[in-house]
Order: sequence, then C-alpha cells, then structure tokens
Amino acid sequence: MLNLRDPSLLREQCFVAGQWISAARTIAVTNPASGAVVAHVPRLGATETRQAIDAANGAWPAWRARTAHDRSALLARWHALILENQDDLARIMTAEQGKPLAEARGEIAYAASFIQWFAEEAKRVYGETIPSPISTQRIVVTKEPVGVCAAITPWNFPAAMITRKAGPALAAGCVMVVKPASQTPLTALALAALAERAGIPSGVLSVVTGSAGDIGTELATNPLVRKLSFTGSTEVGRHLMQQTAATVKKVSMELGGNAPFIVFEDADLDAAVEGAIVSKFRNAGQTCVCANRLYVHSKVYDQFARKLADALKALKVGSGEEEGVRIGPLIDDAAVRKVEEHLADALERGAQVITGGGRHALGRSFFEPTVLVGVTQAMRVAREETFGPLAPLFRFETEDEVVAMANDTEFGLASYFYARDLGRVWRVAERLEYGMVGVNTGLISNEVAPFGGVKQSGLGREGSRHGIEDYLVIKYINMAGI
Ligand code: ADP
Repeated sequence: MLNLRDPSLLREQCFVAGQWISAARTIAVTNPASGAVVAHVPRLGATETRQAIDAANGAWPAWRARTAHDRSALLARWHALILENQDDLARIMTAEQGKPLAEARGEIAYAASFIQWFAEEAKRVYGETIPSPISTQRIVVTKEPVGVCAAITPWNFPAAMITRKAGPALAAGCVMVVKPASQTPLTALALAALAERAGIPSGVLSVVTGSAGDIGTELATNPLVRKLSFTGSTEVGRHLMQQTAATVKKVSMELGGNAPFIVFEDADLDAAVEGAIVSKFRNAGQTCVCANRLYVHSKVYDQFARKLADALKALKVGSGEEEGVRIGPLIDDAAVRKVEEHLADALERGAQVITGGGRHALGRSFFEPTVLVGVTQAMRVAREETFGPLAPLFRFETEDEVVAMANDTEFGLASYFYARDLGRVWRVAERLEYGMVGVNTGLISNEVAPFGGVKQSGLGREGSRHGIEDYLVIKYINMAGI
C-alpha cells in the first residue's frame, strides 16, 4: 500500500459538480513497476460528463464576476497546498506512472509553478484603446474568459499537463472539466481534492475518469463547451479537432513530436552527452519533447557515441520508488512493443546496438537504455516518435544537410542543438521548423516560456504570458455619440 502522510489524497471517486461520486463500474489503476493494483476509479461516461459541464456552466457567471485578485488568491492557496503535499503527490504519481520519485517530485513542483504563474497573470489581462477614425467615437478592446473549457490529458505528465491548462483557465475566469488519462487518474483526483480544500468553488473544476471515447465525444461536441485543450497523440488530436468543428470550438492542441537533437563538430561534447541524456531519457524517453533523432557530425560521431554509451551504463534502471533509480518502467507493454519494433526495424536495415538492446532483466515493461549507431533516414525511428529509451545516432556532414533532415517530418514541437559558433547558432535556430529550440541545453520546459508546436505538433501555447490568451476572447466596444 502507498505510505502517504495524508491518505485522504488517494481518491477512488471522481469530483463532479462539487461532489465526490462513485460508479458501479470501475477502472483498475496499476503500478507499471510491479503490476499491483494501486486503486480503482469510477468508469464514468457521457451522462456524468454532461453533469460536470452543466455544473461548470452554472458556476461560470459567479466565477468570472469575481475580481482577478480574488481568483488569484484562491489559485495561490491551491499552489501552496500542492507544494505542502509534494511528497504524497509524488508517491501517488510514481505508483501509477512509474517515473522515479525524484522526477515525480520535480514534476509536482513544475506543475505547481503553472498555478503560481497564472495566479499572477490573472491580474494582468490587459485590454487596449484604439484611436478611432471617427471623432465622436471611442474604441475599447477588452478580454473576456472564453467560457466552459474541457481538458483531455495524457499519462506521461499526470500533474503538469493538468495545471498548465487549469491554471490559465481558472485565472482567466473560465471553468473547466478535466478528463485525465485512464492510466494516471489518481494524481488528477488528488489535485482536485486540493483545489476543493483551497476553496475553489463548486463546479468550477471537475475531474471525470472513464471511457476516453464517451467522455471525449461529450466534451468535444457539447455546445456549452467553448474550448477544448488536448495533450496527447496527433491521431487523437486530429479526431478531436474534427469533433469540435461542428460547434466551432476554440482548440489548443499539444500533439506528438519527433525532436531532432543535433551535435555539431564545434560542440562541447560532454555537455552534449549530458543534454542528450536529459532530453532523451527523462521519464524513460516518454515525453513529447524527448529527443527522438540524434544527428551527430561525422568528425565527432564515434567519440560522442562512446561517451553516451558509457554514461548510460551508469544509469540505474528499476522501480521508481527505489533510491537512485534514474530510469523507471515504460507505461505498459504496448509501449515496450513499439520500442522493440523500432529497434528491430533499424537492425534489419543495418543499424548496430552499442549499448542496451532489449527488454531489461527486471522484466515487465523495463527496457534497457539503448544506443544505435549507423542509423539512416530510411528507418522508422527517423519518422515516428519512439517514446522510449532508444537513442538512434544519425551521421551528417554539413549544416544544410542536417537542417534539411531535421525538418523532414510532419512534426514541429521541440528541437535541440549543440554548437559554439555564433553565426551557426543563429542560422540553425532560425531555420529549424519547430515551436521550441534548445541551444546547448536538453531541457527547455518551464512555466515562464511558451510551450507548443508548429506543423502537425499542434496549435496554441501553454505557459508564459501567452498561455492565458488561449483562454480569452477579444471583445471590441465602439462607444459612439460622444
Ligand atoms: P498517448 O499516446 O499519450 O496515450 P493518447 O492521445 O492516446 O496519447 O491519449 C491522450 C489522452 O486522450 C488520454 O486521456 C486518453 O484517454 C485520451 N483519448 C484517447 N482516445 C481518445 C478519443 N477517441 N477521444 C477522446 N480522448 C481520447
């Protein structure tokens, strides 16, 4: 059993319309490291989702009418409660998601940072005045909350993907219904318990667990929902966009990536290895900003490959609850099979393994951190997101060639490169067709910067002052007769 300081944070009920509700049918939440059942959550559907939407719609007028200062104070209290319970929340997350406890604690702090940031931004939703072309008229522009919002979130960041949506939504004066991934609903429910404790009014934030198809369809088609924010696969994102089209909802989409990580010949190789490990192997390679393709200049290719393989041998694989573990299990067996397929395809087409190379001796969904050399653009790893601890190293000769290869994908979320030459740094940063570029770093996410993609990686930005704009609509008022 989970050893929590506050056992009431482990909820087996959903928070709908300000009430904790159960259901006859449930979903078992399992620990990917052991297969043990951690808890059961309700398997809700369209009916309960409608109740949550109706309650949100009912709560909206009073919530938006509060001053930004008031909403900000409530969010600040939620932020403080999340941090006070950081350890329990991290334990719940590691139990259902598998990531090492240190990473889970880090994610809770990261998740909380969005609540704090948007609590502050709530007070800075500025409008504008525009000089009118007519002398008797005045033009004023205000920003208003879009209304009832829906969030559908993935399992790889069970806390942060919720707070970077709920934070700006509530700050802006919107109300929200969240549908967390069925693999990781417990962190979401614990966050809802803390929101309730913070005094966020009934109906303003609901969390509905259950059937993705039923809940997702209701959220995407109910006319009361004015905005849908989704983080997950491009395939599901496309489907949701189609569903929202019928009622012309505002959408934010954080979808798949296929991040290039480029090491130029003038790079600091030790720093590049460190960056590659952070970028590629964080959360066992299961983040949408994880390096998917590592392009290394031929002059430093062998040296980089050796250093990376050596560094990986030192990373401990194991249950996230164990001290010192750096790589936890993958989320499930399907995730492992995808990594195996990418590996087999690369080996068949001539790549070679220099470290790792298969399932870990620990069994279940543990996979060895693996490095492949001799990788080419013809292999599946070049086109598809592997979402696991497999680092394929591609060789390149020139800047033009590597930029073309890096951009040769329908995705455009994160990209990374290591170089020292200032001219090259600017040229490459400008030419990469990505929403985010990390130069000499493998870690780019934080609450103050705009996170998001271009091309088929999505629409909208989360975090930064831009993050709240996605939850606002513009109103223009023309005052005549002056
Ligand atoms: P991942 O590859 O991260 O599992 P998914 O896109 O499959 O990404 O899942 C992300 C979220 O979308 C989860 O909450 C999942 O339950 C939900 N989801 C999956 N399929 C659908 C669907 N057809 N409609 C709505 N939501 C869905």
